[in-house]
Amino acid sequence: MTAQTLFYIIIAIIIINFIIDKTLDAINAKHYNDPIPEALNDVYDATEYKKSQAYKTVNYKFGLGTSVFSFALTLGFLLLDGFEYVDNIARSYSDNPIIIALIFFGIIMIASDIITTPFGYYKTFVIEEKFGFNKTTKKLFILDKLKGLVMMALLGGGLIALIVWFYQATGNQFWLYAWGIVTVFTVFMNMFYSKLIVPLFNKQTPLEDGELRTKISTYAESVGFNLEKIFVIDGSKRSTKANAYFSGFGREKRVTLYDTLVNDLDDEEIVAVLAHEVGHYKKKHIIFNLVTSILLTGLTLFILSIFVSNPLLSNAIGVEIPSFHVGLIAFGLLYSPISEITGLIMNYVSRVFEYQADDYAKNTYKAEPLITSLKKLSKNSLSNLTPHKAYVFMHYSHPTLLERVKNLKNKSALNSTN
Ligand SMILES: [Zn+2]
Repeated sequence: MTAQTLFYIIIAIIIINFIIDKTLDAINAKHYNDPIPEALNDVYDATEYKKSQAYKTVNYKFGLGTSVFSFALTLGFLLLDGFEYVDNIARSYSDNPIIIALIFFGIIMIASDIITTPFGYYKTFVIEEKFGFNKTTKKLFILDKLKGLVMMALLGGGLIALIVWFYQATGNQFWLYAWGIVTVFTVFMNMFYSKLIVPLFNKQTPLEDGELRTKISTYAESVGFNLEKIFVIDGSKRSTKANAYFSGFGREKRVTLYDTLVNDLDDEEIVAVLAHEVGHYKKKHIIFNLVTSILLTGLTLFILSIFVSNPLLSNAIGVEIPSFHVGLIAFGLLYSPISEITGLIMNYVSRVFEYQADDYAKNTYKAEPLITSLKKLSKNSLSNLTPHKAYVFMHYSHPTLLERVKNLKNKSALNSTN
């Protein structure tokens, strides 16, 4: 194998990936105007349906534009030896591998952030604005960006520095230490994300005592679930779209409801959404996902350790002086078909879990309010009710609304879980 061959393989991977992705998007877009399934007839009225079709089309065109742009940029960067250029800049500042790696990734991160910001700006202030979703101010948009960058520099920079240091100190054994530190970081983030990171961007207030809180507590007690930490987050300061999520485990477990969700849904619907989230917890989905992602990280780091010291990796993307940080980039590009496949499997598992969580909500609470809540949430985000099967298979972490409604209405599943 020569560096030249490896370079062509990388280019081929990027092109094939782009073609598959865009073909799927196009197939999916062909079905934007399919008739709405009978079971979902009550989601949109005629005007809202028109609006949802316009929204899908605008997003499709926007997605096509951005991906053609980033595809051309990536190819151009590779063909013009961009990594060699950045590596030389980094090397002109220091001889220390850790410092070089930090400058190298810093330049790439900041440059790609500057390049993609106009797209993000357009998405928020033109598309989302036009369809009435956007509540973000320009000041908030810039603040979010800056906070995100600082966080990325501290956490990402810290992790990279540590991993390069492990590589310097232990050679190919580095993957074990890197795995250890990434695991500690992942578990820590899972536990304390809501406490440490979310407050930088949002205000969270405990759900106040009242009818809703009582209904939630009554349900939680009925399934023997200790749920004290229920927070309402001010999602409405950025978007009208609603959400709810579960985070942490053990004593740190908490449910976060968007204020938009609390406004859009009635009490029974909110309890049903929570019952679904409790289902994820009770069925051990959260632990499963955490453990799986840790194991996958370990596997990836192990495979990385086999190849990363090979100078071919750096040479393949046009960098003359082999290094860990450039090897990491080349490895990432070569590994992307494998991570696509593991992503597919994880999406499949996630869809199975969604059915299980829906069944749990149905069996321990009620199906009807969950159905109406899912319909309301779909309506309020103008979501696509007729996605294509192949697109769902590749990209959806949740079953489609139609599949979920059918499953929730299916009485035979009653009592099948205990
Ligand atoms: Zn779920």
